[in-house]
Amino acid sequence: MKHHLPDTLNGRRAVVLLSGGLDSTTTLALAQAEGFETYALTIRYGQRHEHEIEAARRIASAFGVAKHLVTQVDLRAFGGSALTDDIDVPKDAVADAIGGEIPITYVPARNTIFLSMALAWAEVLEAADIFLGVNALDYSGYPDCRPEFVAAFENLARLATKAGVEGSIQTEIHTPLIELSKAEIITRGLELGVDYSMTISCYDPSDEGEGLACGRCDACVLRRKGFEDAGVVDPARYAMEDGLKTVGDGLRRSRTI
Ligand code: ZN
Repeated sequence: MKHHLPDTLNGRRAVVLLSGGLDSTTTLALAQAEGFETYALTIRYGQRHEHEIEAARRIASAFGVAKHLVTQVDLRAFGGSALTDDIDVPKDAVADAIGGEIPITYVPARNTIFLSMALAWAEVLEAADIFLGVNALDYSGYPDCRPEFVAAFENLARLATKAGVEGSIQTEIHTPLIELSKAEIITRGLELGVDYSMTISCYDPSDEGEGLACGRCDACVLRRKGFEDAGVVDPARYAMEDGLKTVGDGLRRSRTI
């Protein structure tokens, strides 16, 4: 990871994987803050809902990325995950227990596939830099979010491409959130001016309007706890009953069920 880059970086291109969620949006903000010209890649992989694709479009536009591509790969053909198969999304887990084992929301080989697609676009763009918004919470549960995985993919990228073999491009996979807690990610993003009301984290939003977050899936529980720990109100719209609108109430409810 690079934190202090020279001014000559201005205009250097980076591909940023953008899901429309909190982590990838913060990652996009960090890539821009480092001076990269950003190319956002959103992949419609057969997830349960379109809301995050729409969120990604709004975010890419708000950030003024050089180009936003929404491309497609059908992981629903394989299934095997609550996000791509007819399996219920787990609800009401205790925040501290999330990440203890690989959850059913893990999508088989998703980040390997996503990074491969980002690598293909990066090679065409002659970009050496790819940004991926994985973090410590993810890699405690998801095998393809771990630092070892990211390092191995970086090696693969240098062997796998014409640009890498000819030595003109040494691919670097940036994971600026990888050691951060959700609260630290939120705090960092707010410092950079990220408007988190644009982001959608929920695995299972309702179909109303732009999608109301359920407040109860693992992604919602971790997001809500992150905002609570950061001492900031979560601007996401939740489909909660009136008495459960505050973060604290929702978390207490999660813990007692
Ligand atoms: Zn949810």
